[in-house]
Amino acid sequence: MNYSKYYPIDVLNGEGTRCTLFVSGCIHNCKGCYNQSTWSPDAGELFTEQLADQIIKDLNDQRIKKQGLTLSGGDPLHPANVAEVLKLVKRVKTECVAKDIWMWSGYLLADLNVKQKQIIELVDVLIDGKFEKDLADPSLAWRGSSNQVIYYF
Ligand code: SF4
Repeated sequence: MNYSKYYPIDVLNGEGTRCTLFVSGCIHNCKGCYNQSTWSPDAGELFTEQLADQIIKDLNDQRIKKQGLTLSGGDPLHPANVAEVLKLVKRVKTECVAKDIWMWSGYLLADLNVKQKQIIELVDVLIDGKFEKDLADPSLAWRGSSNQVIYYF
């Protein structure tokens, strides 16, 4: 898996103060996508075990308390990302006490395959669906367009 950006402190992508990882790889081709540089699974840099360790460390850092981890992109449920993202969310749930996981994906919850669903079982909040330019609404919290749905599991 490749990633495009990692923010150890982020207050824009989900509730509370968070660590946020933008992965590479997206097949959805949404018109008006603000993140086209992440579409190729080869964009950005390789996601390493060292970065996974750093994310766990940042989540557990008591100096600046984090509410949890946000996974966005790109698409964390892109086939090229599923194995690595599953490993990461499992680590967060076992190594970080009381941290939530938010995820943005262009796939619809109803359309996920078995492997993608394994990830969602460990996710606390999912915002699903493509960005639809015609339904874009800047007043929406956490969503770019009104077709997207926020699931609080
Ligand atoms: S799902 Fe997100 S990253 Fe992918 S094309 Fe749509 S807006 Fe862009």
